[in-house]
Amino acid sequence: MYYIGVDLGGTNIAVGLVDKEGQILHQDSVPTGVGRPYEMILKDMADLVKKVVADSGHTMAEIESVGVGSPGAADTEKGEIVFANNLYWHFVPVRAELQKHLGAIPVSIDNDANVAALAEMVAGSAKGRRDVILLTLGTGVGGGVIVGGRIVGGHHHVGAEIGHMITVTDGEMCTCGNRGCFERYTSATALIRMGRQAVVDNPGSAIHVAVGGDMEKVTAKVVLDAAKSGDIIAMEIFERYVHHLAMGIVSLINIFDPEVIALGGGVSKAGDFLLDAVRADVEKHIFYKDIPHAEITISPLGNEAGIIGAAMLGAMGQI
Ligand SMILES: [Zn+2]
Repeated sequence: MYYIGVDLGGTNIAVGLVDKEGQILHQDSVPTGVGRPYEMILKDMADLVKKVVADSGHTMAEIESVGVGSPGAADTEKGEIVFANNLYWHFVPVRAELQKHLGAIPVSIDNDANVAALAEMVAGSAKGRRDVILLTLGTGVGGGVIVGGRIVGGHHHVGAEIGHMITVTDGEMCTCGNRGCFERYTSATALIRMGRQAVVDNPGSAIHVAVGGDMEKVTAKVVLDAAKSGDIIAMEIFERYVHHLAMGIVSLINIFDPEVIALGGGVSKAGDFLLDAVRADVEKHIFYKDIPHAEITISPLGNEAGIIGAAMLGAMGQI
């Protein structure tokens, strides 16, 4: 049997045919066309599902289920998007609408970050484990929590918003309207913010040199590379970044005691340079010092995590 995974984004709808090991056998995508009525977007999604199945040489009869990973909050029982701001969706009946086009096939839906954590458990760094937390360190910080093999979505479908844990009381202003959210200090955006400040304050820093004094050119990679090269200013930024990340991870370990905490997203490309620093800082602050704690690792999955995790929604209970 095969599973269909749909990664619904603000730009594209990506659909993949996935086997029970979480391997994508065939995939395709179409533009989402945000702003159109949801019926049209979901019709395009259903058409792409049929196309991917046909192009892969299979038939819909071989498909066990369709899973959709979506931004925003998803009511997994009703199969509805409760809201997804960047799609302008409120209470969109995804399951019912897809079944109009695909027949009575089971359709599951969940938040995209939760789904990515599920992918980690099936085909990523936490393969075969059942207690996993994924942190995606990108423009913001996404998070997914799996406890006992089940996604922790929360009673009102808005749980696991790890990026908006308030870790610094009355700290930096966040896009969400609060101050001091975890992602203000641990996203790629945070590295860029601190890197830009260094361009202004420290003309001698390797960051300033790398961008020729143009702070618009500062990226997370510029800051990380400067830190790797041993530049003192960049190292200070990196250590501040790592400390915020490590303290959030310590809290997550103290609350959930997972087996694995996987780091994904652009910043995780820093690899061992990041991991070694985070592990050392976590080690110093963990509550139960004499008891083994979660392995902190880098996710090996890239963009395909969205499709794999969504596909595996239909296989939950069997994995
Ligand atoms: Zn926030």
